[in-house]
Amino acid sequence: MTNSFLAFAYLLSSILFIFSIRGLASPETARRGNLLGMLGMAIAILATLFSPLVSEYVWVAGAILLGGILGTIPALKVKMTSLPQMVAAFNGLGGLSSVFIAIAEILAGSQTYLETSLGLLIGALAFSGSVIAFAKLQGLISARAMVFPLQQTLNLLLGLAVVGLCAWFVISGDRNIFYALAVLSILLGFLLILPIGGADMPVVISVLNSYSGLAAVGIGFSLNNVLLITVGSLVGASGAILSYIMTKAMNRSLANVMLGGFGAKTVAASNLAGEDKQAHAGSPADAAFIMENANKVIIVPGYGMAVAQAQHVLKEMADDLHNKFGVEVKYAVHPVAGRMPGHMNVLLAEANVPYEEVFELEDINREFATADVAYVIGANDVTNPMAKTNPDSPIYGMPILDVEKAKTVFFVKRSLATGYSGVENPLFYADNTIMLYGDAKKVTEEIVNVLENK
Ligand code: NDP
Repeated sequence: MTNSFLAFAYLLSSILFIFSIRGLASPETARRGNLLGMLGMAIAILATLFSPLVSEYVWVAGAILLGGILGTIPALKVKMTSLPQMVAAFNGLGGLSSVFIAIAEILAGSQTYLETSLGLLIGALAFSGSVIAFAKLQGLISARAMVFPLQQTLNLLLGLAVVGLCAWFVISGDRNIFYALAVLSILLGFLLILPIGGADMPVVISVLNSYSGLAAVGIGFSLNNVLLITVGSLVGASGAILSYIMTKAMNRSLANVMLGGFGAKTVAASNLAGEDKQAHAGSPADAAFIMENANKVIIVPGYGMAVAQAQHVLKEMADDLHNKFGVEVKYAVHPVAGRMPGHMNVLLAEANVPYEEVFELEDINREFATADVAYVIGANDVTNPMAKTNPDSPIYGMPILDVEKAKTVFFVKRSLATGYSGVENPLFYADNTIMLYGDAKKVTEEIVNVLENK
């Protein structure tokens, strides 16, 4: 394959990647976006394989086989609720591959010191940061923010040392400095993510995703590979924009999230369930009765709906309420509901909930005041008013869905346990709240049974 044909193939796959990201921006076009991305990647791999860039096919075939197995098995097995961990793992592998390529380049005598050391530095941060993010999300280590005295100072000193080593290597080209840079960057990645609490992990994953893209840009410059530069830039920019959107949704700044420390304290509101405060429990039959007599019901899905896989029966309930009883039903989706961006949208789309019935926080929040019922299914943190009132809480500042403004609020969950952030929810004890204890799918199925037998 000639160089100009390779350039054409790379251009084609870059265009496909751009359209892929465009498609991924909405649930309606996400499937097409995914397919375009796969096509772009297939063209990129085949073009590279048949180009003069590759001469040693045995090693490449081994790497493709190993990578293919390592990618396919978890992708087939992973549950929707564990996707964030998988994204963290893939970001980490992306970062690690940049580290390996950077080392290989320097061993091969490359003179592109600046690009290669930047690729190494950012790739190492993405790798070790993702290891911690993975371990926190997978429950291998505590999801809480791990803080210790002088942590920020240590991180600052390490950061300065890493920048200094980078400059030293660029000037001297000394390989030992390069290896020291690799070790310190990996250590810095661990230390930067440890003090960040689990509730902030979605933003962290998105930032690390951006890092893995930027590392690829550095490596792309050092290999003089246009496609790596383009694709790395796309990943770097889209990860950065997503991080910005998410921090904005949580009413935080990126610096505030990345400096960590949130979630270090246990924010117990243990006096919430004081002697005079009792949570009121109801039955599915009560819920069916109240909802069939409502004018407007707003459904608020959360992580528990994903765990219970209750989205299909939830759609049945909404259809029954609308078709049999003329109730207006809408869905309110918080930007960080569930465990990954767009988690709820994907599940609702899977159950064929029409897109026009699904609303984002800012578009529906005012409507709770005019709703008869808020049906909160497996959601907790995204409704917790402590986000407005308790500055010590790890979710402080995050806009929440104002479900308590509805006449009646049903919380479908198995207990009064806290959500991901570990903050108790005072709404469980509110006068207009009725707890429907149980698995989200089972409770909703029972409501559907009652509605269908009327
Ligand atoms: P939460 O984690 O706040 O609450 C989920 C609730 O679901 C729990 O309180 C649990 O209560 C209940 N639950 C669990 N299993 C079931 C089940 N089978 N049936 C019924 N209920 C169940 O979820 P939210 O969606 O409200 O909030 C998301 C949280 O996750 C936020 O803190 C967010 O920052 C964080 N996060 C978000 C990510 C994202 O990108 N969206 C990624 C990582 C974290 P019980 O045990 O009593 O049943």
